[in-house]
Amino acid sequence: MNIESLLIHGGIEGDKRTGAVNIPIYQTSTYKQSEFGKHADYEYSRTGNPTREAVEKLISDIEGGTRGFAFASGLAAITAVLTLFKSGDKILITNNLYGGTFRVLDKVFKNFGINYDIIDNFDSIENHIDKNTKAIFIESPTNPLLDVVDIKKVSEKAKKHGLLTIVDNTFMTPYFQNPISLGSDIVVHSGTKYLGGHSDLVAGLVVVNDDELGERIHFIQNATGGILQPFDSFLLIRGIKTLSVRMDRHEENAVYIANKLSSNKSINKVYYPGLESHPGHLIQKSQARGFGGVITFRLNEDVDYIKFINNLDLITFGESLGGVESLLCHPATMTHAALPVDLRNRLGITERLIRLSVGIENKEDILKDVENALIIAIKKVGE
Ligand SMILES: *Cc1c(COP(=O)(O)O)cnc(C)c1O
Repeated sequence: MNIESLLIHGGIEGDKRTGAVNIPIYQTSTYKQSEFGKHADYEYSRTGNPTREAVEKLISDIEGGTRGFAFASGLAAITAVLTLFKSGDKILITNNLYGGTFRVLDKVFKNFGINYDIIDNFDSIENHIDKNTKAIFIESPTNPLLDVVDIKKVSEKAKKHGLLTIVDNTFMTPYFQNPISLGSDIVVHSGTKYLGGHSDLVAGLVVVNDDELGERIHFIQNATGGILQPFDSFLLIRGIKTLSVRMDRHEENAVYIANKLSSNKSINKVYYPGLESHPGHLIQKSQARGFGGVITFRLNEDVDYIKFINNLDLITFGESLGGVESLLCHPATMTHAALPVDLRNRLGITERLIRLSVGIENKEDILKDVENALIIAIKKVGE
């Protein structure tokens, strides 16, 4: 099946008993055991729940993995994966990545002796690998600067040194990119974003390509308990069914707006892998089927960024991304506030950097909203 069909027919389809086309919401914590020492497929919903299993099977199918797992949030999923490691282990990470991922590494796992090393240039990754290095955790494109990482090359190098490659595929979704087919071992998602797609749930997913890894993640999921609830599992399945049409529109709108903003005199720079001028454009084209719907841009000095944000009308100012509505955020004070100031400054995650998750509204309406707010926000001489 092609991906558009798999999004709808993958996983566990409907309900065998009644023929209902949608999986029921099994709102139960426990299951009757027929007699002492005997239980059917399920015994307790932290360990297994049919609705959750349906979304777990679905994400595994659409990512091309062997097994999937659903968690209460993207960060619960990432935390479960990081729990694979032990004191003394070191994980290599991309220099810009989701602030929450950095925060859990820096403020939680470091206390347990699990260390990280920030990589600026993946071409010289060997310089960072020693006997304690156990994994490479990447995003591509990265959040918020949309750098493209060559997933295949990184995975090959990781394999050579016996490291696991973990890819946060939230920005691309399985519709545009499948890291497992590029050699990665583990894929994580914030299901809160494009997969859910409607800004109405918080969820996280893990996909592995190996049975032994699958057993270990299942053990951790049950032992630590950060599971996705049945109703949210249902909502996530519902969201995934329309992923292909939404992503196509997100991208069409993003390409249009990125090009228009590139020639706007109030904008210093547009970061979007779909622009031919983007340094990662060709790698992106070789490893993904699209460019996604997130654009980052840097405002010129003469734009009052607070005035710009406060004068948006159609576009919602807020955290998150990947919903049907356009969402704009200010990474330096919001999503990436957890990054150390010197790292933020070095990377250019500063006050004039804006991230726009382009929604599926009319593209002219979205563009007009940005342009209008920019006009209002231009500082007059002497202001
Ligand atoms: C939002 C996000 C996360 C965290 O997911 P939650 O569902 O908010 O816990 C992780 N990675 C990326 C790239 C994200 O955008």
